[in-house]
Amino acid sequence: GQPMRLSVQAHPYAGNRRMLLTRDITALEKAEEMRRDFVANVSHEIRTPLTVLTGFVETLQTLPLEADERSRYLGLMGQQAQRMGTLVADLLTLSRLEGSAAPPLNQWTRMRALMAHCEDEARGLSGRIATQPHRLQFALEADSEVAGIATELQSAMSNLVTNAVRYTPGGGEVTATWRLLSDGRGEFTVRDTGPGVAAEHIPRLTERFYRVDRSRSRETGGTGLGLAIVKHIVQRHGGQLRIESELGKGSRFAITFPASRVREVRTRLAAQAP
Ligand code: ADP
Repeated sequence: GQPMRLSVQAHPYAGNRRMLLTRDITALEKAEEMRRDFVANVSHEIRTPLTVLTGFVETLQTLPLEADERSRYLGLMGQQAQRMGTLVADLLTLSRLEGSAAPPLNQWTRMRALMAHCEDEARGLSGRIATQPHRLQFALEADSEVAGIATELQSAMSNLVTNAVRYTPGGGEVTATWRLLSDGRGEFTVRDTGPGVAAEHIPRLTERFYRVDRSRSRETGGTGLGLAIVKHIVQRHGGQLRIESELGKGSRFAITFPASRVREVRTRLAAQAP
């Protein structure tokens, strides 16, 4: 009767509050679960090369080996050490990116130089990993600058280009283009004729350590952190990363920067034209 009604009126939002609380706990639990997953992933990624290294050390200590065999083992050990080095470098890059504020709009980076560096890197990598060279095409459609940190922009672009070369078999095509869109945005695209990615994997590619094919990624020296780093850098620069891919046909990765962060470089010749 009466007392019960009073009690309900005294806490008009009790039901809602409980709901809010439940939602907060869920978000917290989710964050905690993600942190646990991350730590488990990092541990696993470190343990794998470590196990291989330990095995080689034991072999070298217990087996009498010929000099050339010893040096082959040492070479393989060096590779594993390098793997771990790359992993630690990528982890540090991610944590640095997460901790820093968006870069100011008063530092301008010339895309021409970044494109040239990407091209050199792609050629070098293709020469090292493929028996038949890739057909590489780089195009700078507009000489422009992007407001942002050169090393970060370079890292994002290089990641996409080197992924395209790593996942596309030799002889395949990799095309990278910088262009200005009609609305003033700048767009960097990388297309490849590689294996492509099935639709259900595409939304997850930028998650840390998410790989479609773990062994394929490892074989080519991947850490599984590349696209997570790219996404962070692009977001910090106010841009967007779009991924389109078709299994068996190839992929297209596009980064667009907002018009406010892009400006065209007018050469003296262009400025003099009527
Ligand atoms: P990884 O070090 O494994 O390459 P990334 O974060 O750079 O890590 O990429 C995540 C995953 O996305 C890769 O393991 C691979 O499965 C897929 N991927 C990335 N780029 C391409 C590409 N150009 N073609 C096909 N698959 C790709």
